[in-house]
Amino acid sequence: MKSRNIWTLLIMIMACFPTVGLAREKMVIRFESPDAEVTDRYLSSEADVAAFKPGQYLDVVVTSQEYEQLLTQDRKFRVIQTESTQKSNLKVAGYRNYAEITAELQALAQKYPLLCRIIDIGDSQGKIYSDAGKYNYDAMKHDIWAVKVSNHVDTTEDEPAVYFMGGHHAREPIGVEVTMAILNYFLDHYESDETVRQYLNNTEIWFVPLVNPDGHQVVLDEIDVWWRKNIRDNNENDRYDRRLISHNGYGVDGVDLNRNYNFEWGVSDTSPFPRSLIYGGPAGGSEPEVQAVQSLMEYRKFIAGISYHSYGELVLYPYGYATDAYAPDSNAMSALAADMAKSIPGIAGGNYLFEPGWALYPCSGTTDDFSYGNYGTFAYTIELATQFIPPADQVQQICQDNLQGALVVMDRLNRAMLTGHVTDDTAGLPITAEVFIKGIDDSPIYRTPYTSEPLFGRYYRLLLPGTYQVTFSKTGYVSVSYDTIVINPDNPTLLDIKLQQI
Ligand SMILES: [Zn+2]
Repeated sequence: MKSRNIWTLLIMIMACFPTVGLAREKMVIRFESPDAEVTDRYLSSEADVAAFKPGQYLDVVVTSQEYEQLLTQDRKFRVIQTESTQKSNLKVAGYRNYAEITAELQALAQKYPLLCRIIDIGDSQGKIYSDAGKYNYDAMKHDIWAVKVSNHVDTTEDEPAVYFMGGHHAREPIGVEVTMAILNYFLDHYESDETVRQYLNNTEIWFVPLVNPDGHQVVLDEIDVWWRKNIRDNNENDRYDRRLISHNGYGVDGVDLNRNYNFEWGVSDTSPFPRSLIYGGPAGGSEPEVQAVQSLMEYRKFIAGISYHSYGELVLYPYGYATDAYAPDSNAMSALAADMAKSIPGIAGGNYLFEPGWALYPCSGTTDDFSYGNYGTFAYTIELATQFIPPADQVQQICQDNLQGALVVMDRLNRAMLTGHVTDDTAGLPITAEVFIKGIDDSPIYRTPYTSEPLFGRYYRLLLPGTYQVTFSKTGYVSVSYDTIVINPDNPTLLDIKLQQI
């Protein structure tokens, strides 16, 4: 989740003591059933809010000094995570590090050569610095791996594509574990499970298990177990500043990758100040890790996807950038979020909750807003777990429970939707035509108009069951409209369109 800092007074005091890193040990405190006064105070300030589950709890990361100060006030809270629990959970649970992830992906590609390809989609910031001769970054030379899983894996087929990704935020490594668990599940069950086989035969499933490998290393190596951002060299001193601590108790480098996506960038819950934990970067899409994911999305125009974070046991859907920014596809996205949330039990009982991103608190420059806003992808963020780094006895359970949510998304692709091809009526060639659905695409809230893709002229529109008015149009062609397209709950409606040149 997000991070801010409220302690103006402390900033001034601490500015006098610039290297008190050790005294800045952090912890997470919890307000149970927080009232409006508490939630308003923290959500509207610059507090480092770790998680907010409306009506249940509000968790805030504080330094030991902030904690001492809170003790003097009349507030009820308790400490639920400390620096040492974070470290022992990391060690005992055996969270995969970058080298282990890379080795495992290579082994999977070798074991399943017909189903699985590893693709290098970009370099981390650390690798770019190292390649430019900045030797302090030599230990942070990371490639960003995508894994494509499908039968005929070397061919781009006329199939919908789905993504699962993790590790945008460094201190949330459980998202990496869940993404790896889903990847392993699909590959290991292709032979034995008819449903999985159908998914892989009819879909391209893409995984980016670790979007932010440099930040992940900062946490896994315990350089700073509370680190969130990538390691962009904000102060341009050619090194990752593990000791140079800024006012909020964090290092001065880095960009918040889930505030850096280039859609409605810089609008809400993000900071223009490099030292902030929610620094959005110098420009939308400035970070190489985000560029890698943006390019993958532009290339494959996914029908749906999940980005895993921690924590809060929530399923979030677009938009996130502004209050009341109801996405044009809100109703259908919400219904799928509900089905997912219902399928995922929380670690202490009760299921995951679901809501639009903005309803939790508005934040902009996120993966989901970029993915949905540009390509109409049903793009979800799942806040896993009840802490950043869950202990060993919870990790497997969280992976298993969230596999169910992933399977709900896969199953959705066989249900209520409108799909087909748009081609030229003489040459039969695919056309990228706009597919306009009345009651959805005439929303006052903007999304890039949905078009069929160029390779096959294929389009996919996930819809709620009902009757729709649909128009297909392309400059230079005669538009075609249908007034009563019926969408059934249990299977896709197929509609191939031939457009005639004017
Ligand atoms: Zn996160």
